[in-house]
Amino acid sequence: MSNPTTSLPVAVIGAGPVGLAAASHLIERGETPIIFERGEQVGANMRDWAHVRMFSPWEFTVDSASARLLESHGWQHPPKAELPTGGQMFSQYLKPLADLPEIAPHLRLGARVVAITRRGTDKMKDAGRDSAPFALHIEYSDGREAWVEARAVIDATGTWQTPNPIGSGGLPAVGEKRHSDHILYSIPDSERHRARFANKRVMVVGSGHSAINALLELAKLQDDSPDTRVYWAMRGSNMTRVYGGGEDDALPARARLGLKTREWVDSGMVTILSPFRISEISKAADGLSVTGETSDGHQSVIVDEIIAATGARPDLDMLRELRLDIDSSLESTRALAPMIDPNIHSCGTVRPHGEAELRQPEKDFYVVGMKSYGRAPTFLLATGYEQVRSVVAGLVGDWEAARDVQLNLPQTGVCSSDLDGEGGACCAPSAQITLLSLDAIRIKT
Ligand SMILES: Cc1cc2nc3c(=O)[nH]c(=O)nc-3n(C[C@H](O)[C@H](O)[C@H](O)COP(=O)(O)OP(=O)(O)OC[C@H]3O[C@@H](n4cnc5c(N)ncnc54)[C@H](O)[C@@H]3O)c2cc1C
Repeated sequence: MSNPTTSLPVAVIGAGPVGLAAASHLIERGETPIIFERGEQVGANMRDWAHVRMFSPWEFTVDSASARLLESHGWQHPPKAELPTGGQMFSQYLKPLADLPEIAPHLRLGARVVAITRRGTDKMKDAGRDSAPFALHIEYSDGREAWVEARAVIDATGTWQTPNPIGSGGLPAVGEKRHSDHILYSIPDSERHRARFANKRVMVVGSGHSAINALLELAKLQDDSPDTRVYWAMRGSNMTRVYGGGEDDALPARARLGLKTREWVDSGMVTILSPFRISEISKAADGLSVTGETSDGHQSVIVDEIIAATGARPDLDMLRELRLDIDSSLESTRALAPMIDPNIHSCGTVRPHGEAELRQPEKDFYVVGMKSYGRAPTFLLATGYEQVRSVVAGLVGDWEAARDVQLNLPQTGVCSSDLDGEGGACCAPSAQITLLSLDAIRIKT
């Protein structure tokens, strides 16, 4: 590493699957990480959706360097073809990894990074910038604050904690903040949230996989609480896109989700509001009135609870003192945008990428994982694991390994060209990989 502050650690922010993978690659390369995690446990965001079964099997959800580290302590890889839940990812993979003697001493739990800068240098100053250490402002859950220095920073903080509002224009609807105690910005658990949603009128907003998972949890509630009424509101009206690629999807679990939802909708157990662009939430005599723009004007629906499954966006505030090159629409790392922009690549085409595409004007600072995709929803873990392998190789000066990016992901069978009859321009299959993910199908509605 060319930075003269070589005795300092490399800071990894976020101990989700990608942050812990970055730490494993650093350790394998003989580097010392310091890992900051705002949660009281690793994998805090995944634990929030612990009950949700992933659509990728274990084969695609475990990082190679992490597996090698774990296996050196006798860990056995879970069956590669089985689908983990978020909770199993935590208990069978992330927690054992975090407890390893190579990782545990470097992990700081309950440690939220609130801002990052260069020591003694604000964003405008050029002189000595590249060689100044990074300074991270940490707020600990016990109320302490500290500055910690690092020679490089890998930001793997995801986007889960900054969900999109339900207002259709990307801003909160009128009344959304006031009524937020009746809005769940997550995926409900039919057991944990039973009291909140059973026999209530519930509106699910969004049309991606998070929305579909939310609907299927509500379907479970309807089995024994038949007065649970479900409304499904979305901005667009292309249901083929919403239900996904069906039997063309190489991840069968993901295909089954769409098919199950279609069956449930066809059975009349859910009222579809489509298109329904939400502008206002207000108090009504017997609940909340949600007003949306439809193809015929405006419509108001009375509900008790709302579930926002409208995707998420990156927290860029903490990066304000750094020199970043961020795409103006996706808020992703700029070089990634043409590869993942859902306006162009509605099938989520992505090619292997790594350090070169993730490099920022701020030397030795990288955004990786879910956050590197900004608002684009097509991120998959295997992509993130290859990102951090390449970034770490670059940080230790192994440029050959950094450039040698490879990625092997399954096809989804979903492409806007199939759905809209627009031709296949966006989906060149050979050197590229097609994938559909969480809220991709919401875009272009
Ligand atoms: C319901 C659901 C199902 C999914 N299923 C799949 C699937 O089947 N296959 C697949 O490949 N992908 C799937 N994904 C997408 C993606 O792989 C996951 O979102 C994954 O968790 C992203 O990993 P990450 O490490 O980038 O971010 P996260 O898992 O979000 O981890 C970020 C970590 O950073 C911490 N953090 C945040 N801010 C700070 C801060 N300021 N300071 C310190 N720590 C901070 C958080 O607490 C968290 O632990 C799914 C996503 C969801 C939501």
